[in-house]
Amino acid sequence: MARIGFIGLGIMGSGMVANLVKAGHEVTVWNRTSSKYPEIEKVGAKTVKDPSQILAGADFFMYCLADDAAIKEVITGGQNLASKVKPGTIAIDLSTIDPETSASGRAIYEANGVEFLDAPVFGTKGEARDGGLWIVIGGKEETYKKSLSVLEPISATTHYMGKGGNGAKMKLVGNLLVASQLVSIGEGLILAKSAGLDLRKVLEVVGVADFKTPIYSGVGAGAIAGDYEVNFPLTLMLKDARLIQAFAKRFNTPASSAVVTEELAKAGVDAGLGELNASAIVKVMADRVGVDLVE
Ligand code: NAP
Repeated sequence: MARIGFIGLGIMGSGMVANLVKAGHEVTVWNRTSSKYPEIEKVGAKTVKDPSQILAGADFFMYCLADDAAIKEVITGGQNLASKVKPGTIAIDLSTIDPETSASGRAIYEANGVEFLDAPVFGTKGEARDGGLWIVIGGKEETYKKSLSVLEPISATTHYMGKGGNGAKMKLVGNLLVASQLVSIGEGLILAKSAGLDLRKVLEVVGVADFKTPIYSGVGAGAIAGDYEVNFPLTLMLKDARLIQAFAKRFNTPASSAVVTEELAKAGVDAGLGELNASAIVKVMADRVGVDLVE
């Protein structure tokens, strides 16, 4: 049993906390919006009013926050919790952020003798709820091994990627692949519908052929049902599309699907769809050309 201080009761953090409690850990949580407390108290987590209260006696300090701005506000600047963590505690950042922001956090921890892992996750609401995330981790291998007791209850697999920052980098590589699949399933469905194909038959083929992916099947089924219920908010996809481009630019490598995704996601957010699922970029594309994908 470990004592864990956890920040962030969003779609992902809420599921993670529930699974950490279920695994027998003592979890104390802080979230900016305290209206989320009753729900998480029901699963057995403790809650506090002041975020620095979660640090006292913690073996692990874990957080899953929306974006770089949130990390800067709570962790590395603003409330500056990173500088208040005691040596002996292991800090684990599960958010998707710029590797450079992650490196700034790492520098604060290391200057204070605190071990740190950048450990962003793949999977979405269902995987977070079911403890089935896929986690990519950067940091010292010894720190990774010491953290397995808190990483395993929230994940299907953990992947040690090497030195600090490699988890954050892998996450953006993965989300580039996600972005390209969102764009291509959208284009494929719109072309198929326009050409008179039955989209149920199209998805039958997409679900078995040598180009099948869970994203094609999941997003495709949602699009033909007109279901864009949120698992991964469109606002966060917009954030990631921008992070991917900035990251690729540092190496002068192509990231064209992130460029297209940014443009579509921004149009969706501007049209008020930001709290829908990221798959709503398919709706944005279809609406632009006047194609109704609902079957
Ligand atoms: P979310 O539901 O929007 O939750 C975001 C969390 O960050 C909430 O706890 C929110 O607090 C907090 N937050 C945002 N801005 C803040 C600020 N300025 N100060 C303090 N707290 C702040 O997001 P999520 O879907 O759980 O995603 C969390 C992270 O995981 C993101 O980096 C995302 O890219 C990544 N991720 C998400 C998914 C997914 O499918 N959803 C999958 C993989 C990775 P409030 O409750 O007060 O708003």
